[in-house]
Amino acid sequence: MSSEIQSQSKTAKPRVAILGAGPAGLGAAWQLARSGKAEAIVLEQRGDVGGNSGSFTIGGELDGLPLDYGSHRLHPSCHPEILADLRGLLGDDLLDRPRHGRIRLRGHWIHFPLKPVDLVLRLPKSFAFGVAADSVRKLVASSSANGHESFASVLERNLGSTIFRDFYHPYAKKIWGVEAEQLSAIQAYRRVSAGSLMKMVKKVLALVPGLKAPGAGRFFYPREGFGQISQALAAAARNEGAQILHHTAVKKIHLGTPHQIEVERDGSTQLVLADYVWSTIPITTLAKLVTPQAPADVIAAGSKIKYRAMILIYLVIAQPQFTEFDAHYFPDAEVALTRISEPKNYSARNKPKDRTVLCCELPCDVDDENWRRTDEELGQLAKQALEQSGLPIQAPILQVVTKRLSHAYPIYQQGYETHFNRLDEWAAGLERILTFGRQGLFAHDNTHHALAMAYAAVDCLNGSGSFDLARWNDYRAEFATHTVED
Ligand SMILES: Cc1cc2nc3c(=O)[nH]c(=O)nc-3n(C[C@H](O)[C@H](O)[C@H](O)COP(=O)(O)OP(=O)(O)OC[C@H]3O[C@@H](n4cnc5c(N)ncnc54)[C@H](O)[C@@H]3O)c2cc1C
Repeated sequence: MSSEIQSQSKTAKPRVAILGAGPAGLGAAWQLARSGKAEAIVLEQRGDVGGNSGSFTIGGELDGLPLDYGSHRLHPSCHPEILADLRGLLGDDLLDRPRHGRIRLRGHWIHFPLKPVDLVLRLPKSFAFGVAADSVRKLVASSSANGHESFASVLERNLGSTIFRDFYHPYAKKIWGVEAEQLSAIQAYRRVSAGSLMKMVKKVLALVPGLKAPGAGRFFYPREGFGQISQALAAAARNEGAQILHHTAVKKIHLGTPHQIEVERDGSTQLVLADYVWSTIPITTLAKLVTPQAPADVIAAGSKIKYRAMILIYLVIAQPQFTEFDAHYFPDAEVALTRISEPKNYSARNKPKDRTVLCCELPCDVDDENWRRTDEELGQLAKQALEQSGLPIQAPILQVVTKRLSHAYPIYQQGYETHFNRLDEWAAGLERILTFGRQGLFAHDNTHHALAMAYAAVDCLNGSGSFDLARWNDYRAEFATHTVED
């Protein structure tokens, strides 16, 4: 027998149940409660907030050092209204930091973001000549699309074969687990922020003192870890009256008036009643949870789109600092990791005094060989990858901790659009159900994009309690122009 979870207040306002307490869900809960438009209740399966943008601490002698689920930064391209809100919530804790990373290219370390001096002095000669020759070729030859396009063809045409072959081709295979030729052109058009040689040159020039655009080469980072953004959003939402339930996994959604959401909580099945369901969980999961059941072709479409998983391997090392860099990127096919980051360097933290942590990112598939490895094996794998890249760990490794993300990246395999569109069309046909956020729209988006979606959803809910679908569709067209930043 299932019991019912009562909302905290009894008002005439619509009740909105938000599935997922990542930035999209929390941003929506805060805006709903703050605007007074609705009663918001957030249902989250985990014990913490922030989803993939959360932070956690591990025991031992780390002085509460916050660790993120892989390298996370708040990009200055965040919408000014949202940035102002986050500044209001975090105050001086929202640090403005210079980017200071490195990419390993043909055995050389190049600063990331690129510095003009690196282009002249540090790029491997063969790479620099290749890029120069590609640029000349681009100037003299027409470079319009020619027939069927893929991630590979778009990037090769726009960036030239040298950058494509040395960087994007191997990196794509590692991140998404699919050959660049099998990825959709959308991945290149909307998801590569420096999508053409001209854009890349502009990005580099933007770093020259005097030409420097505000925010170029910088990022925002909360003093207590990236998850502090979500923690602050959750606290603000609660302050305004929103409810956030942890360890509450959504198991079924019975469509009706009101919708009845079956959740598993405290070892029992409970019911949440809501006028609206705003889902930020994977759209593929949503399609399986709704009753009456989605048509068979929708379920089939859901099984044809996939999210890439990721294992985060945290190495606790007995030394104050591993390097001065925030992140190292490894495009080479031979190195299993895609990136390592050193959390202490993101907030210039000097505690713990004699320990640091490296966060190593290993993209994979749920249940593949790597997913099933033990922590010890993963620690060895990370250590060897660093040795192979010329970054051997000299100090003792005191502890290895791992975290697994089942939904790290949407995979834009060729033809995915047809399957996603079928799911999206089905979801749009459900009354008073909305899906958004990175998982909800299968969008390879940043945190600030997920927040923009949340703000847009709240903007579409009218004071009368009705939802303006036409306005939402305009916003959806805007979301399609989001470009992901690394
Ligand atoms: C390795 C990596 C690095 C990244 N780096 C950056 C960066 O530098 N800057 C940046 O801006 N963004 C970055 N991102 C993207 C960022 O993590 C996402 O944009 C953001 O977390 C999306 O927020 P969301 O709320 O849409 O989804 P999520 O954060 O995925 O939240 C979804 C929530 O739904 C919950 N959920 C799922 N199923 C259920 C269920 N059945 N019942 C209840 N709850 C459920 C999950 O537990 C989760 O909390 C990165 C992502 C990854 C993977």
